[in-house]
Amino acid sequence: MKRLSPETIAKVKEVLSENVRDIVIIPHVNPDGDAVGSSLGLWRVLKNAGYAPTVISPTDYPAFLKWVSGTNEVKVYEHEPDVSQQILEKADLVFLLDFNAPDRAGKLGPLIEKETSPIVLIDHHPAPADVTELMFSHTEASSTAELVYRFVESLDLCEYLDKDAAEALFTGLSTDTGSFSYNASSPDMYEVVSRLLEKGVDKDRIHDLIYNNFSADRMRLLGYSLDQKMKVFPEYHAAYISLSMEELERYNFVPGDTEGFVNYPLSIKGVIFTALFTEKEDLVKISFRSKGGFPTNEFSNLHFNGGGHMNASGGESKLSLAETIQKFEELLPEFSAKLKDEHRKLGN
Ligand code: 5GP
Ligand code: MN
Repeated sequence: MKRLSPETIAKVKEVLSENVRDIVIIPHVNPDGDAVGSSLGLWRVLKNAGYAPTVISPTDYPAFLKWVSGTNEVKVYEHEPDVSQQILEKADLVFLLDFNAPDRAGKLGPLIEKETSPIVLIDHHPAPADVTELMFSHTEASSTAELVYRFVESLDLCEYLDKDAAEALFTGLSTDTGSFSYNASSPDMYEVVSRLLEKGVDKDRIHDLIYNNFSADRMRLLGYSLDQKMKVFPEYHAAYISLSMEELERYNFVPGDTEGFVNYPLSIKGVIFTALFTEKEDLVKISFRSKGGFPTNEFSNLHFNGGGHMNASGGESKLSLAETIQKFEELLPEFSAKLKDEHRKLGN
């Protein structure tokens, strides 16, 4: 069961009662729906409970999430480093949400390492770093948003969880499970969904806001990516999409536009491992996804300086886009047996 231990609850309650006012909540770099949703859900609850919380995101959040209540009050460290740093220095308590090690917080990482106020970590990634004793880390949870609900419940703060907070948390749950299509088999998770619906979440409306909220350019970029930029390797049960900066610019890319692209090739019969390569200023950002037991996080950690979950991970490469893709292609034969085996087990 995803519950805080009584000792941790007692310690967190003690911290919250000790003249805590200013609280900083930090999601991971390039925050996704779960990072933004869990952060803003917790932010709203703490605000309603009389604290002065601020969400400081290392980098900007996706445009398609701008409707989530509270996003306009998020401080973006890369845009406002000085103000963000001042707020962090004043903080009596810091929450780290949806990441497992300081280096996942981008330029905020070194500041987290030096932090002297108590830190609470709420996360569902494997192998959390030893940053705090106040740790609420459950790999089996669908999302950090699910864990934030359980955290709020454990601390008897549910009365402060209003509709806005519930919508933010629902967003995290929905986006991290592909609208409840993967990592979504635990009855315990649906209990959380049920509690959020009771708080007034209009599921159909929120679904529409999350998934039908893209620009025409983004849809065209998706079409182009699938038609022109997707390479399929039937013999390895793998596929990838790659996008250069020039291509992204051609379609007026804004952060969040390529969110979900990596999942599309998994809809191809027989494909169980996918990658998305996106060229940035100084590196190539990579997303990996898989079905079944192929551990993309180990693959990413071994070869692309990354990590994450078994079925959803990411990494980066300092090689050029073409060299990165070549490296990926050259690695596939090495994983052939494992990919074939996992494909066979899935029976798809
Ligand atoms: P995405 O592909 O959506 O960016 O990320 C998928 C998952 O992998 C997320 O859980 C994210 O936290 C993790 N992830 C993405 N990029 C990296 C990375 O560079 N390093 C590590 N350790 N994890 C990553
Ligand atoms: Mn997450």
